[in-house]
Amino acid sequence: MLSNKPAHHRIWTRLDLAWLIFLGLLAAYWLRLDFSHQNQLAQAQVQAQLRASQAAHALSMQVRSQLLGINFILEHLIEHWQDHDEAVFRKLVGLAQQGIFKGSLDVIIVTDAEGKVLFNSHTQSDQPVSELSVAKRDYFQQLAQRNEPSFLISRPVRNVLTNQWTVQFSHNMLIDGQFAGIILASVPAEHLAEAFRQVYPAHEDVVLLVLNDGQYLARTHALEESLDKKVPAEREFLHRPDLQSGHYNAVAPIDGVERIYAWHRIPDFPAVISLGLGREKVLSSVQLAIKASKTQNLLATILLLLAALWITRLVVIKAKQNRALLQTQERLATLLIRVPSGVLLEDENNRIVMVNSTLLSLLNLDAEPSSLIGLHHSQLLTMLGQEQAAWLPMARNNLKQRQLREVKDSAGRTFEIDWVPIRRNFRSLGHAWFIQDISERKKKEQELVTLATTDALTGLHNRRSFLDILQQQLKISTPHCPGALLLLDIDHFKRVNDTYGHPAGDLVIHNIAQGIRDSLRQDDITGRLGGEEFAVLLPKATLQHAQQLAERIREHVAATPTITQTETIYVTISIGVALLYGQDENSVQSQADQALYQAKNAGRNRVCCVEYAADEVEQA
Ligand code: GH3
Ligand code: MG
Ligand code: MG
Repeated sequence: MLSNKPAHHRIWTRLDLAWLIFLGLLAAYWLRLDFSHQNQLAQAQVQAQLRASQAAHALSMQVRSQLLGINFILEHLIEHWQDHDEAVFRKLVGLAQQGIFKGSLDVIIVTDAEGKVLFNSHTQSDQPVSELSVAKRDYFQQLAQRNEPSFLISRPVRNVLTNQWTVQFSHNMLIDGQFAGIILASVPAEHLAEAFRQVYPAHEDVVLLVLNDGQYLARTHALEESLDKKVPAEREFLHRPDLQSGHYNAVAPIDGVERIYAWHRIPDFPAVISLGLGREKVLSSVQLAIKASKTQNLLATILLLLAALWITRLVVIKAKQNRALLQTQERLATLLIRVPSGVLLEDENNRIVMVNSTLLSLLNLDAEPSSLIGLHHSQLLTMLGQEQAAWLPMARNNLKQRQLREVKDSAGRTFEIDWVPIRRNFRSLGHAWFIQDISERKKKEQELVTLATTDALTGLHNRRSFLDILQQQLKISTPHCPGALLLLDIDHFKRVNDTYGHPAGDLVIHNIAQGIRDSLRQDDITGRLGGEEFAVLLPKATLQHAQQLAERIREHVAATPTITQTETIYVTISIGVALLYGQDENSVQSQADQALYQAKNAGRNRVCCVEYAADEVEQA
């Protein structure tokens, strides 16, 4: 038999293990999910880098063609400057302004070899050119060193008149290989920025045009803040001159926006174009999808956890129920072993549910109780002897009342067989048989009955028992089928007591009782009504027959003395006879009593009958 505690522990160990596996699987799932999300993000980032790289390349080509255009215009203007026709030159400047500079040209300046401004597009032809010199400017000093045609892009400077940032494009003029001055076109940085902004207007995205040293030339946004600055020193293109393009992720110090950057060098020019796509914007759709996926998975996980908790609760409840059931079964099993009756419990389909060993020994069946569980009642009957099989007839379904009966076996033992239906809410749940050997009890009961109905001295019926039997007999006696009552009284019995003593008197009473019984048939009933008075009931006897029998008793008593060790005691009896024809008990007793009284009066040792009128018995 299993003890409850280990079973209880076992279920918890199993649950713990199940939860451990379940949570482990959940954790693995979430790790995998997170990995997949990171992967998605990385993919999206790679895609964005690719897009940015392609766009940066396209932009670099576009900027290159513009720079080539500016170079070409400046070279063209140099040629015409050398023609010394300022009117034609100014016209050409105007055309260039509308052509390549698209109205954005800030100024075109031409200087001599000393840096003195000879032409200023802002100044009309009839106005004198102001006494300006660019001799100290970087670009002038650089170009003055060159003896081959050179094009320079300089860091932006603020126009003192317009306060606008402008980018300086300059070209040296050579006459016979000698430096003869420069031509400079100044374009508002805003113009360059605007060109990029048309393609990437969003605030999150940015296009940078920077010199190879990192100096800003144009920036689509926050132009003012950036133009006198350089990009951060760690940018790849600043220290990897071997690379033509690349990408990086960074938070711009100027506006604090995190972006995915792709950069491209502008072929033939010392500048780099860098395109930054707002990281949040680029990845927002993926991040939204990831967030939705996380939300869905979180909901599913919560549902799963709730379901697991619910299942755990059910399992625990079930385990508790099972434990309670097991305990009940164990208690019941103990009860079955200890109970003195044989018990057979069957379900509503007559299948054995429980049986105890007491029942098996009562049924003389050599089997283990457990081997009978599940058998049908009919199968059990085939295993029993004919006698025992008859004790347990198949239960009828319509039986609703307890059935109690007693049976005797061939060895004379008495069994009480109790059949009890088990019902609940009008539904049959089966039935139980209880078999008990009540032989001992029966014997004791019989002894008690005998004790209560027998006279101790004579072994005859006592007064109460005899009168009961008389009463029963009176009920069935009729004038056509009468019976007879004999009342007998020992004659002068006081004398016997007085002469021989009370114990001898008792012996006489005992012997006379024996004598009366010996004179009778088996069906006749004898009782001692008290003292030395007896009564005899002769069922189905006529008056004549009763008289003859009474006479025989009287003679037998008179002829049979009681012999003690010292004495031989002769006594006689007087008998009164009355017929039973249906009258009441008192009447018949009083009738017999009168007849006895007559016998006594007539001299004793005789039989007297009630004298009935000829038709009395008939009438009664
Ligand atoms: P009768 O012929 O008129 O019947 O005279 P009797 O002496 O027998 O008178 P009765 O029947 O009235 O006497 C009953 C006597 O029987 C009285 C009592 O002493 C005696 N007796 C009654 N019961 C017992 C008994 O159990 N044992 C003995 N030894 N004597 C008994
Ligand atoms: Mg008497
Ligand atoms: Mg007497």
